[in-house]
Amino acid sequence: MAYVLHTAMAIDKAVLHRDRCIEVPENVTVHDHWTGVWQEIPDKERAYEALELSPAKYKLKCQLCKP
Ligand SMILES: [Zn+2]
Repeated sequence: MAYVLHTAMAIDKAVLHRDRCIEVPENVTVHDHWTGVWQEIPDKERAYEALELSPAKYKLKCQLCKP
C-alpha cells in the first residue's frame, strides 16, 4: 500500500491519501499551480513525515480513504 500526498499551495492545504483513493487522479505526475502537486510515497512512515514537513498551513488526512 502506497500513499499519495497532495499539496495545494494555492489553498494552503496538504492532504494525505492512500494510492487507491478515488480522489487521487490516475496520472499523479500531473502538476499545476491550482490543482497542486501529487507526490507518491511508498511507505507510511515517510508519508506521515512528508505531511508534517509540508509548508502548507492545513495538514489533513483524507476522510474517504483514511490513510
Ligand atoms: Zn483519499
